[in-house]
Amino acid sequence: MSRISRRDFLKLGGAALLGLAGSRFIPQQQEEDQEEYFNAPLLWHGSRSYRNIAITYDDCNSLVRLKKVETLLDLYPEFKVTFFPIGLKIPDLESKDKGIWKRLIEKGHEIGYHTYEHVNIGVMSPPAALMDFDRWQSALVDALGMDYPTRFVRPPYNILSSTLDILCQERGLVAAEFSIGGGGDPEVVLRAIQKTKGGDIVQMHIRTEDYESSKIAFPWLKENNWDLVTMSKLYDDYLREQVNSDGCDASAGSFLTRTCVD
Ligand SMILES: [Zn+2]
Repeated sequence: MSRISRRDFLKLGGAALLGLAGSRFIPQQQEEDQEEYFNAPLLWHGSRSYRNIAITYDDCNSLVRLKKVETLLDLYPEFKVTFFPIGLKIPDLESKDKGIWKRLIEKGHEIGYHTYEHVNIGVMSPPAALMDFDRWQSALVDALGMDYPTRFVRPPYNILSSTLDILCQERGLVAAEFSIGGGGDPEVVLRAIQKTKGGDIVQMHIRTEDYESSKIAFPWLKENNWDLVTMSKLYDDYLREQVNSDGCDASAGSFLTRTCVD
């Protein structure tokens, strides 16, 4: 599998991507699952052609449990995940463990928006949702001490809504749903992960049971040559497949040598 960094990909295929980024990326079989009105990019899973999956951890409300997941991930330096913390926990955890968010990013993990106080975005007005996102983003930027290009939103309770659609379009976010639900018996979660066809998005939380699931899933994924990737990596692979499947140069090796915008 070729590896292209997000930066290279944007550099090489930027024009095509910019054109595509405003349109829909949902494969046919996913169309039926989503609300008709949803126009922003929405992802239930990534490309089935890549041997990777994305594990995501929502809420992040316990420092102790978040650090347990971090320590577990440290044993698999090639594995990257995405965290969806609620905003009020960003300064809270930062005050208890200075630099925690920056550390996670420096280790290659990703952070996405999950509202400031875990509110269903569908009950917010569009202006309120925009303000909520901006408040969350400021909390993250303050904690990191640097700007951060947030790309994904995991809506609380996984509820799609017209407000979420507007928020995504206004702030350039991709709505991240999931294809495998964590939670519950770790053995059951492991069996679901073992059936992956690639490209799955696994929703977990910073809970003890999800830590236990991760603890048994990580070695299995490693032994079976699966890669654990961030939402950005999963999405960029997906975009690349969309570009290639539109009659573009699919045998691009490690470079996208040609982009096809007609
Ligand atoms: Zn949540």
